[in-house]
Amino acid sequence: MKRLRLILGDQLNGNHSWFHSIDENTMYLMVEMRQETDYVKHHIQKVVGFFLAMRNFASTLKSQGHNVLYLTIDDPENPQDLGKILKEQIAKHAIEKFEYQLPDEYRLDQQLKTIGNDLNSPTEAFDTEHFYADREELAKFFKGKKQLLMETFYRMMRKKHSILMINDQPEGGQWNFDQSNRKKWDSSPKIPEALNFRKNVSDVVETLANAGVTTFGHIDPKNFNWPTSREESLQLLDFFCKNLLVHFGDYQDALHTQEKFLFHSRLSFAMNTKMLSPKEVVDGVLKYYYTHKEAIHISQIEGFVRQILGWREYMRGIYWREMPNYASCNALENHNPLPDFFWTGDTKMNCLKHAIGQSLDEAYSHHIQRLMVIGNYALLTQTHPDEVDAWYLGVYIDALEWVEITNTRGMSQFADGGLVATKPYVSSANYINKMGNYCKDCHYKHTQKVGEKACPFNALYWNFLAEKRSHFENNPRMGMMLNLLDKKDAKELDELKKRAREVIAHPDRF
Ligand SMILES: Cc1cc2nc3c(=O)[nH]c(=O)nc-3n(C[C@H](O)[C@H](O)[C@H](O)COP(=O)(O)OP(=O)(O)OC[C@H]3O[C@@H](n4cnc5c(N)ncnc54)[C@H](O)[C@@H]3O)c2cc1C
Ligand code: SF4
Repeated sequence: MKRLRLILGDQLNGNHSWFHSIDENTMYLMVEMRQETDYVKHHIQKVVGFFLAMRNFASTLKSQGHNVLYLTIDDPENPQDLGKILKEQIAKHAIEKFEYQLPDEYRLDQQLKTIGNDLNSPTEAFDTEHFYADREELAKFFKGKKQLLMETFYRMMRKKHSILMINDQPEGGQWNFDQSNRKKWDSSPKIPEALNFRKNVSDVVETLANAGVTTFGHIDPKNFNWPTSREESLQLLDFFCKNLLVHFGDYQDALHTQEKFLFHSRLSFAMNTKMLSPKEVVDGVLKYYYTHKEAIHISQIEGFVRQILGWREYMRGIYWREMPNYASCNALENHNPLPDFFWTGDTKMNCLKHAIGQSLDEAYSHHIQRLMVIGNYALLTQTHPDEVDAWYLGVYIDALEWVEITNTRGMSQFADGGLVATKPYVSSANYINKMGNYCKDCHYKHTQKVGEKACPFNALYWNFLAEKRSHFENNPRMGMMLNLLDKKDAKELDELKKRAREVIAHPDRF
């Protein structure tokens, strides 16, 4: 039987059982499509990264003897739309059966279901064989639960996969070392020089320009620094284990003007494209930990495992349970536009200048920059979650909707009303100053609440609590914050509100 198997750009799993044997009647189809470059405006490095990784994957499959049809974005035979491409290729090659791997994005899942229904040939969908938990297992876990706590899910996963467990007890005597993951980094311990790939990607950049693909952000075409093959992804994992794991947990929440990556792994792109599986990553770090136990404290490895076995899988569960409604939730009724400086980094607020500037330069910022600097500001200024989502989905190289929207709308913007986060992640300048050195050279004073030089985060914070108070009255985790709000002097609160309104109305003046 002649079979066509579709491989999407984030399905680069060379260990998938599809590839265990070679069959000359099976044609693999990979396509660079305008449909995918245009559904949101992407960072240039994101499009280049995906296309390059896809091209490398296709050539590996070809070298193994598989029959691969690869359509580049500038191929005259490429109609740029998935439905049209499949119809054309199925007719052209007299295909008798169409097969695909289940997409991780709702949008593509729906599209492929419709395409499958419209085709005359039989269609079959396969699991991607990437995640610890497949969609069915996730659905079972989340079914009928009112509270979807990550911690409950994480413990279940630890037990089920016997990870950091001694019999049925957590290794190290506690499940979670989050409390010890909160150190400020102050030039020590030394951060090893990052592993750089520095590839020349000028040809891909030129092809994108010629094809008229609109992108944003910066790229140095002669020094592209993301892993785009399995070999490079494995190198990055190895580098992380040997150089960064030892301090990962401690400095997970740290912020610093001179260090863009600190002890973070930068493995999200390799994992989200499926060049590496989460199990390979977790097994890799565990192996390293168990052979270097005298040098690495359990809090470092637990902090890392929690992100992958816990948060990453959990967010996927939330996504599939809550979509499509999740994409339009706006529980706090926020409606302000995203400030222009999100596209330029041009602001006097040093923390945002660094975090946004770095996002535009690298298509990357680490978790606390995303959550407690950029996301915090967007929420405090009551920005519409649609605009926040579109920015996050476009700017980061690892942004795929299933993991982006749950983090952005859910964890960061509280737009789901508290499904992912039990309270909104908001803070005044105090937290940003505590975790890093951004405030040191800032135009604004982190200790000042009102006046020309007062840090805008301070006024925004109190204004947010006052304006959104009705949403949090019944939230016990917000009790302390609301108590403090109630104790504020009325005149001071008025001044804070006035300044916050000014920041919200004219964000680009700050
Ligand atoms: C507002 C916001 C938006 C985000 N958008 C994305 C996104 O589009 N894509 C994405 O992969 N991650 C996203 N994250 C989660 C996290 O910030 C990134 O996974 C991480 O910064 C990637 O860098 P790293 O590989 O160096 O991570 P490390 O700090 O080294 O962590 C290791 C791995 O853990 C996983 N991980 C860590 N935190 C999370 C989390 N909250 N949810 C899911 N997985 C996690 C990632 O796979 C990551 O590679 C977002 C977080 C926030 C707050
Ligand atoms: S003073 Fe305020 S704006 Fe400046 S870096 Fe600190 S938190 Fe950011």
